Amino acid sequence: MTTELEIGLYIFMLAGFLGYHVITRVPPLLHTPLMSATNAIAGISLVGSLVVAGADYGAFSTVLGFIAVTCSSTNVVGGFLITDRMLKMFKTAKDQTVQRRKFQFDPKWLLALPVLVAGLLVIFYWSEQLRSDATYFFREVLPGQALRYFYIISAALFILGLKGLSSPKTARKGMFAAEFGMLMAVVGTLFHHEIVTFKWIIIGFLIGAIIGGIMGLRIPMTAVPQRTALSHSLGALAACLVGISEYFRHSGELSKVTMTALGFEVIVGGLTFTGSLMAAAKLQGLLPGHPITYKGQNIFNLSLLAVIVGSLIYLIVAPTAGMLFYVMVGLAFVFGFLLVIPIGAADMPVVIALLNSYGGLADAAMGFVLMNKIQIITGSLDGTSGFLLALLMCRAMNRSAINVLFGAFGKIEKAEGGPAAEAKGIVRSITSEEMAVVLDSIRSMIIVPGYGMAVAQAQHGVAELAKLLMMRGIDVKYAIHPVAGRMPGHMNVLLADAKVPYDQLYDMAQINPYFAQADMALVVGANDVTNPAAKSNKNSPLYGMPILEVERAKSIVVLKRSLNPGFSGVDNELYYDPKCMMLFGDAKESLNKLFAALKL
Ligand code: NAP
Repeated sequence: MTTELEIGLYIFMLAGFLGYHVITRVPPLLHTPLMSATNAIAGISLVGSLVVAGADYGAFSTVLGFIAVTCSSTNVVGGFLITDRMLKMFKTAKDQTVQRRKFQFDPKWLLALPVLVAGLLVIFYWSEQLRSDATYFFREVLPGQALRYFYIISAALFILGLKGLSSPKTARKGMFAAEFGMLMAVVGTLFHHEIVTFKWIIIGFLIGAIIGGIMGLRIPMTAVPQRTALSHSLGALAACLVGISEYFRHSGELSKVTMTALGFEVIVGGLTFTGSLMAAAKLQGLLPGHPITYKGQNIFNLSLLAVIVGSLIYLIVAPTAGMLFYVMVGLAFVFGFLLVIPIGAADMPVVIALLNSYGGLADAAMGFVLMNKIQIITGSLDGTSGFLLALLMCRAMNRSAINVLFGAFGKIEKAEGGPAAEAKGIVRSITSEEMAVVLDSIRSMIIVPGYGMAVAQAQHGVAELAKLLMMRGIDVKYAIHPVAGRMPGHMNVLLADAKVPYDQLYDMAQINPYFAQADMALVVGANDVTNPAAKSNKNSPLYGMPILEVERAKSIVVLKRSLNPGFSGVDNELYYDPKCMMLFGDAKESLNKLFAALKL
């Protein structure tokens, strides 16, 4: 006979495969919303947390459950709000001109809810258990059945939600479906027969919703990477706390299977919590962004991991060794810190995507501990999504997955056998006033945004310039490199924030053939993604990375502050190209001066 564990494993694998197929269809344009959407869905740890906070498991468990509810609801509310904020910004030029009909609430929609509940009641009524009397039915049968059916519906809605992200046209509808799915999962859980009080659930949820709401509504788009990292850390903490509570209330009297899943949950949850906190602090500038390294770091980290794994193996054999359990959790927290400190802030997006994946796995492990199928499904979806995004980033950055998986970030190793890329030659500079004159003579321009545009917050200036040039009859296109910036889809979100229609954004494969015909390529704070050494210099660390072929344009203007290299630390040959002119300065300030010159 198939055991619960086997069913769980089948579900985990199938959800992973399904997630893979659904998520590979999400275009790079929507990779940042995908990250925050899966982050919100990972807030499914709320389901386990609600039971721990509301059940009568003892004061210690209630406190842990309360904290877990607060953390998970911050994740859910903040994650869905910011995803919706981003998706609302993705519009085509046509969408922007069409005056949308004002949203009108149709009361008929309210009928959907009672109809749904009534439908469920009818199903229950005819179910075989209904031979018993009505009181028994409402007290004992209904809650269990409601929970089961609500979970099935919400699993389907989560998958539909992610499927919606395959196009900006369906993305918002998809997210509404996922939000409704989360609502059903939460409402279904409230029927859980072990919940005896709603007090701590309500207080925790309100605190989480307020914090998440503020984060989701107020945080600027440029701070999305650190918000995502912070959110991962909260979700992972919730998973870890629920695991600790489960261990505590059973005093370690657990089967080998449950102990394995629980150990995995608290270890991965713990290291993801501290690792993500570190990532958020580095990205926010609260901690130094540069990699912090010391001699023997890798050996030390690996030894620590070995101790943690060894402790788990011991606990599987002797689960009641309580002291060892708590030491193992403490070491997992320390390991998360140590894992991330040798990584530079610039590498954080890959780390965040990986931690997203770890957070998903911690949720799935929680699902195995509680034998909760919805958590297994969403954990698997989240794990797949984070892992896929990390791999996509690595591929676009020309880094190996092994390099990422084993934490060898921080610097791109220089190839041996020759100078990496010491571009030398004459650099030509141009002023904003001269640039204004040059713009009079061009008919087409391709704008290439990069990380510097995000630093300077110059996206609004870029969009204004493009609009102005288009009004003058100049053909303007945007070229988006998949890893321009510091997050997958970073440039898409910033330009959407500046109301640039997404149908003016071209991905690398689409735009490269146009460069040869473009009168001007305007590079705004991009560097590595335009470096021709990636194609021509075998000794360059960038060699093999697909780039935007800016050097093929008839003229090139680069907006940046100096000749300093970008993320890879490699000189850019482009700046010594006779067709290239450097407009030195902060990108936003340079654009402001350019506007002033254009208006003269
Ligand atoms: P980049 O190579 O990092 O270069 C950004 C440039 O922006 C710098 O050279 C800098 O030059 C300039 N800059 C900084 N502040 C500026 C300001 N206020 N005004 C004007 N310019 C400014 O950026 P990229 O071309 O976008 O390439 C992204 C890099 O990040 C790639 O190497 C990619 O592999 C890596 N990466 C991306 C992701 C992702 O998911 N997108 C993840 C991890 C790593 P100055 O200092 O001279 O101004």
